[in-house]
Amino acid sequence: MDTASENCSVKVAVHVRPLIGDERAQGCKECVAVTHGNPQVQIGTHSFTFDHVYGNGGSPSSAMFGECVAPLVDGLFQGYNATVLAYGQTGSGKTYTMGTGLREGCQTGLIPQVMNALFNKIETLRHQTEFQLHVSFIEEEVRDLLDSVSVSKSVTANGHAGKVAIPGRPPIQIRESSNGVITLAGSTEVAVNTLQEMAACLEQGSLSRATGSTNMNNQSSRSHAIFTITLEQMRKLHSVSPDNGTPDEDMGEEYFCAKLHLVDLAGSERAKRTGSDGLRLKEGIHINRGLLALGNVISALGDEKKRREGVHVPYRDSKLTRLLQARFILYCYAFHAFIESEHDSLGGNSKTVMIACISPADINAEESLNTLKYANRAR
Ligand code: ADP
Ligand code: MG
Repeated sequence: MDTASENCSVKVAVHVRPLIGDERAQGCKECVAVTHGNPQVQIGTHSFTFDHVYGNGGSPSSAMFGECVAPLVDGLFQGYNATVLAYGQTGSGKTYTMGTGLREGCQTGLIPQVMNALFNKIETLRHQTEFQLHVSFIEEEVRDLLDSVSVSKSVTANGHAGKVAIPGRPPIQIRESSNGVITLAGSTEVAVNTLQEMAACLEQGSLSRATGSTNMNNQSSRSHAIFTITLEQMRKLHSVSPDNGTPDEDMGEEYFCAKLHLVDLAGSERAKRTGSDGLRLKEGIHINRGLLALGNVISALGDEKKRREGVHVPYRDSKLTRLLQARFILYCYAFHAFIESEHDSLGGNSKTVMIACISPADINAEESLNTLKYANRAR
């Protein structure tokens, strides 16, 4: 039996944000109950148990980061890919939780915490390891959010120097070779050396993010935003002197490369509730198809029995799942060559965490219940 499927892990957490001003103004009551110290959430007569439940106010705490995401950051240093997904209806707190908003969550969000942890760890290892970091930030309906940032590699034909991504540029293409290896054509990989440089990419991309207004939330985002960190390591190997334990003979080098996808998914509400024009509606339907496919993939991955039986994981059913699954071809900066990644980013022996975000307000009860049901399938 291959170890890849043994190690595959999907964890599901729920984050219940506090009532917000709008909801209070409408006289909403809370309808979601979280028992302190118990990973359980209750809505009406429905009760669900997850790996973790975070609620009762407060921002995405360091507890959420520590329990759900920090292990994935550690895994990156061992060469394991990972994916963190924020799922939920528009307004449920996905952007706040991930930290892909411009102001909100810019300190407490998961991505800023990932960056801090990453650079802290790099600092402790620098004496023995050489690091290369790249980030990309794209949207699916796929658009490059970093095309105006100084780039180390490649990019688009129209290298405008403007601050914001140019609308109407050709979208990023997903290309698949005959052996199933997926590459993205036209996505910008920005080389970053410092925490500040990485934070600037997050900010730049967040600024560029297309947010179409719907009547549910005028900051609504109808696209999936995928912030990807690629960590490359070149570790010097030494044999250790038996006398005094100091590094002795040079034994060559060891190379690791891994990707962490941090995904702020599109709103999960059904299209009819956005009540917008034909175009929006079509996008809404399409987006739901991506989320549907994601649910099926995660549910297949999370089911140990199914995995053992080698049940088909339907990655191919949407662009989103293909993007996340992709056994990417990585540009290996250490060797100045393209190499095929050793592990998948979703499934295989990668780690996946889904954070289902819900509003506690009674007017959102139906969508919150839908979100919990969706998340429950993933377990
Ligand atoms: P989404 O990205 O799911 O559409 P947002 O992250 O934009 O939702 O959050 C919607 C609103 O709720 C925002 O005004 C945000 O400030 C607020 N909010 C979300 N999560 C929290 C939280 N944990 N604490 C306080 N306010 C929050
Ligand atoms: Mg959002």
